[in-house]
Amino acid sequence: MPNHKFKPESLMMSHGYHPEWSEGAVKCPIFQTSTFAFPTAEMGKAHFEVAYGLRNRREGEAEGLIYSRINNPDLEILENRLCLWDNAEDCAVFESGMSAITTVLLEFLKPGDLLLHSTPLYGGSDHFIRHFLPRFGIKTLEFHPDHTEEDISRMITEIQAPLAMVFVETPANPTNALYDLAMCRAVADQFSSPDRRVLMAVDNTYMGPLWQHPLQWGADFSIYSATKYIGGHSDVIAGAVCGSKELMQRVKGLRTFLGNMAGPWTGWLLLRSLETLHIRMERQAATAARVAEFLRDHPKVQSVHYLGFLDPVTDAQQYDIYKRQYSSAGAMLAFEVEGGEAGAFAVLNNMKLVKLAVSLGSTESLAQHPDTMTHAGVELAHKRALGITPGMVRLSVGVEHPDDLIWDLEQALARVPTAGVAKGQMAGVAG
Ligand SMILES: *Cc1c(COP(=O)(O)O)cnc(C)c1O
Repeated sequence: MPNHKFKPESLMMSHGYHPEWSEGAVKCPIFQTSTFAFPTAEMGKAHFEVAYGLRNRREGEAEGLIYSRINNPDLEILENRLCLWDNAEDCAVFESGMSAITTVLLEFLKPGDLLLHSTPLYGGSDHFIRHFLPRFGIKTLEFHPDHTEEDISRMITEIQAPLAMVFVETPANPTNALYDLAMCRAVADQFSSPDRRVLMAVDNTYMGPLWQHPLQWGADFSIYSATKYIGGHSDVIAGAVCGSKELMQRVKGLRTFLGNMAGPWTGWLLLRSLETLHIRMERQAATAARVAEFLRDHPKVQSVHYLGFLDPVTDAQQYDIYKRQYSSAGAMLAFEVEGGEAGAFAVLNNMKLVKLAVSLGSTESLAQHPDTMTHAGVELAHKRALGITPGMVRLSVGVEHPDDLIWDLEQALARVPTAGVAKGQMAGVAG
């Protein structure tokens, strides 16, 4: 059977590394070095010709190692492995998710351009797009999950600036609202011209690399905070961008000059994390389904935002996107506790196993309060319009036993004040 194609999870232990490179070591070592010795001056010259784009690589010629800001084996092997999940041609790893995002934006936007983006965005992305980019003459426009293709086209046309990029985060954090990536591509195509393709970048952090593949829907970039599911152990900050060879060459070019690549140690940690990515995420998603069901039936929980609960009739538009674009409901959910902030805080303050912390996608379950924590910077009216309420708790489900998580939530929910008391408290706050 000569044509068997291995699945990504089967290749995470070996792809792109050969033991003969390192004394037979089964595992890729940490290449903790800043610079690489050239075997001869001629080969050093050849490496630089390729690195500086003076000529294309000759057939069979490997990209020569020069200096760890340009390339390093731990990063290159990691990038090759990350490509497999998204079926991407190339990948670049960064020292953080924010540096991955900002490098893409800076490389492909110029003064006068319009950037269209979904909302809500991760706080860091939101700040960079709405407060930093305008200083360089870049215009921004936001769209919502209930906007149609026609609505968006009209809004873009009204702005009268050339659309250069669509930047999307789906599912939206923390409500799990979904954006239709095929529709976003159609908008981008509508405003593309033969000499300028409108690019589409998707921050795929919230769903992670297994269950949504933005490139398949016409995105040019699938971007990750590797701090989340990819790293998966809350012990490393890193980011990644996947895309075509041609575009990634530009991303890597700017990365070389900003110097925001990940270091070898981060690269090595992520190589180790990738070996268990599939098994971690599948387990997290299975557990999340159990936890979501428990929460839905709890009398003190008013609503649960979990993709597995989308209704084909009452949520027809969202359900349709979910069925087309996702292969799992994921491991992120949000729920509303009765009693507003006091109710949510009672849950957060009384959990014994789940940690009260931001971040997500890790082996340990993490819970936080979007209204006053991750989304504290979002304007109040906008926040409420997005469905982020004072009683909302966001939960990132880890790999603990589901029975233990349910026990923990149950005993914490038991500490939520009864409805009458909570209403009184809310009135006090409002007054
Ligand atoms: C965490 C996160 C980021 C930023 O990543 P860092 O690694 O913290 O820089 C960007 N986007 C999303 C959706 C995130 O959750």
